[in-house]
Amino acid sequence: MALLPILTAPDPRLKKKSRPVETVDADVRQLMDDMLETMYAAPGIGLAAPQVGVLKRVIVLDIDREEVKTGPLFMANPEIIEASDEDVSYEEGCLSVPEHYSDVVRPAKVKVRYLDRDGARQEMECEGLLATCVQHEIDHLDGILFVDKLSALKRTLIRKKIKRRAAAATKT
Ligand SMILES: [Zn+2]
Repeated sequence: MALLPILTAPDPRLKKKSRPVETVDADVRQLMDDMLETMYAAPGIGLAAPQVGVLKRVIVLDIDREEVKTGPLFMANPEIIEASDEDVSYEEGCLSVPEHYSDVVRPAKVKVRYLDRDGARQEMECEGLLATCVQHEIDHLDGILFVDKLSALKRTLIRKKIKRRAAAATKT
């Protein structure tokens, strides 16, 4: 396994749409394992392949809270096939948008269909933090960051901060 560098906004690769994987082969499994290790080291509870510069529809998750402990989850080509009418608001953060946290409203429950690490087709009912996290990671596969879901005003404030930081980083 290897640690992969995590891209941060405004890297243009984070805005691209990722392509489905054809099969979960050894390369995809290697990517999944490296992503999991990278996520644990960050530390984070979810990571999508475009965050490490790979434009493939692959995400990994591991939620370890009192109310939900998932263990490591590997998903290729994840799709939301059902979403509740009921919404919930969670304070989200993102390894690619460091130091920013904001409330995001999303469906409270979703059913996700995906291929697991063995390439087997799975469906999983998700609620609570898991539902939020799965939707956040799938958004990454479509080039959407959680800051894109906020009100225009909040978004402008966060973008300004990101630009300032990027400008500061290039000065050194
Ligand atoms: Zn994220």
